[in-house]
Amino acid sequence: MMEGGRRGDSGLAEGLPDEKFAALEAIYRVHEKALQPFVKEAICRPGCSFCCTHYGPLDITTLEGLAIRGRLSAFKGRQQARMQERIRRNRKLKEMGEAAVCPFLDAAQRCRIYEARPFSCRQLYSLQPCEGRGPTVHRQAAALAKETVQKIQRLDDTGYSGHLTYILALFDDRSFRRLYLAGGFDPARIESFGRSHGLVINRGVSPAGGTAEAT
Ligand code: SF4
Ligand code: SF4
Repeated sequence: MMEGGRRGDSGLAEGLPDEKFAALEAIYRVHEKALQPFVKEAICRPGCSFCCTHYGPLDITTLEGLAIRGRLSAFKGRQQARMQERIRRNRKLKEMGEAAVCPFLDAAQRCRIYEARPFSCRQLYSLQPCEGRGPTVHRQAAALAKETVQKIQRLDDTGYSGHLTYILALFDDRSFRRLYLAGGFDPARIESFGRSHGLVINRGVSPAGGTAEAT
């Protein structure tokens, strides 16, 4: 994808200071609390996974991508290799415009990264079966989710948003990783990949490679 990446240099366990993740968790908690009156009516149950296989853009921010990488670092050896292969395959399918089951869904229809799942998944619930139509949510909950996405993007204001596997691909590039972890911000660095993969610059919330203001 981008120049500068080194094969075998995964750096999965590298991370930002804990305060950033604590702030992200706090945003999740606030949203979860605000959502309680709505999800009381939800029909979601363990093992119901249409939302992980068919529905949802599964967009994340770079900060959430880093949290997921941290979770992925717990998988070792062949398990780790299989996980990376699933992510790679999912990205290829997405690039070809084909539907792809989330790479983190296991054979028992459970989430392998549940504690680190992104907001795209946390916001989901449905009042009716999702098959064939996607989740049915309250209008207020949808508005609340939009606000929460913006809060996360503001928190991650040196980062980007986009499909899970595209954001994870950014971190495979060691020079991108170093810049991001150091708090650097250089959208030109990912312009070509950002444009071709529909990434958004969190700062100013504009398409990557577009005309987002740098302040
Ligand atoms: S959002 Fe839909 S598919 Fe996902 S758990 Fe709820 S009812 Fe099931
Ligand atoms: S990250 Fe987990 S909850 Fe989200 S779509 Fe994938 S399997 Fe489902």
